[in-house]
Amino acid sequence: MNGHDISFNGLHRPVPGVPRGRLAPSPTGYLHLGNARSFLLAWLQMRSVGGEIVLRIEDLDQARAVPDGARRIVQDLEWLGLDWDNELSPDFAQSNRMSIYRDTISSLKDRGRLYECFCSRRELREIASAPHGSAGDYYDGSCRRLTPEERLERRAAKEPALRFIVPAGTIVTFTDLVAGIVRDDLSRTTGDFIVARADGVPGYQLAVVLDDIAMGITHVLRGNDLLASTPRQILLHRTFNAEPPAYAHVPLILGADGTRLAKRHGSVSLAELRGAGVSAASIVGWLASSCGLRPTPAPCMPDDLVEGFNLASIVRSPTATDREIAFR
Ligand code: GLU
Repeated sequence: MNGHDISFNGLHRPVPGVPRGRLAPSPTGYLHLGNARSFLLAWLQMRSVGGEIVLRIEDLDQARAVPDGARRIVQDLEWLGLDWDNELSPDFAQSNRMSIYRDTISSLKDRGRLYECFCSRRELREIASAPHGSAGDYYDGSCRRLTPEERLERRAAKEPALRFIVPAGTIVTFTDLVAGIVRDDLSRTTGDFIVARADGVPGYQLAVVLDDIAMGITHVLRGNDLLASTPRQILLHRTFNAEPPAYAHVPLILGADGTRLAKRHGSVSLAELRGAGVSAASIVGWLASSCGLRPTPAPCMPDDLVEGFNLASIVRSPTATDREIAFR
C-alpha cells in the first residue's frame, strides 16, 4: 500500500523533507492538563522545525465516546492556541474510515496473517496472569492451535476476535526520541494481538498505523502510556512495507497521589479551568514549566514556546499535581 497516493480534503500530499506530526485525541473524555501537555509538545515538535500537523479524531470505539466529545476537544485545542493544517472533514474521524480498516483486515486474513480468537475475558485474564516473564496483555496463541472442528464448534457459540500472528523471535528495536532505545521481543511480551474485536470494531493498533501511513505522518509524539504499543505498531508498519514514523513518548501528568489524572484530582479539565476563570496563557505557562520548557509558570502562549524548543530539554519523570497545586 502506498499512503502517499491518498490525499484528503484540505491536506496536501506530504512534501519530501517536511515533517508531519499529528494530534490524535480520542473523544472518550474531555481535554485535561495531561493530554493537553502531550498535544502542546507534539505541536511544538513540528512547529519548531516548520513541520505540519494533522488533527484526527480517534473515535473508533463509539460506545465509549462522551457527548459532543470531538467538538469540545477541538474547541479546547483552539482555545489553548494550537492549530493544524487539515480541515476537519469527515475523513479525519476514524468512525468514517471503517471501510479502510475492514478492507485491510480482510486482506491480512486472506494472506493467512490472522486467526480467529474465541477466548472470553476471563480466559484472557488467566492467560495474561500466568507466569511467562512479562506482564500486561500477553496472549499465548491458544486459539491458533484449535482444530477446524473445534473452531466450527466455537464459532457457533461466539463471534471471534481476529489476532495478528507474531512469529516466535519477532524482536522490534527502535530509538525513542525521549525514552531512548527500546527492544521488545513481541512474541514473548504481547504475543499475537487483536486487530479486530469480536464486536467488529477494528483494533486500535491497526487503525492508528493505517492512519499514520495514509496521512503521511513522519513523527508521533504522545504520552508514554502508549510506549508499550509502539513495537506492535512498528511491526504493522513493516507488514505494510511502510517506514515507521519517529516516535517520542513523553512523561504523563499524574495526580498528586501518583495515579493517572482523573476527576478526583480536582478540576483538571480545560473546560472546568476555563470556567473558573483560568486563562489559556496561564495553563500553557504552567504546562511548559511543568515539563522543564520554562523556568517559571509565567503565562505564555504556544507560539511563544516555538523558538528554541528542544525535546531533549524536557524532564523525563512524570509530573504529579492537582488543581490546588497547579492553579491556586
Ligand atoms: N487516541 C489515543 C489517545 O487519545 C492516542 C493514540 C496515538 O497517539 O497513537 O490516547
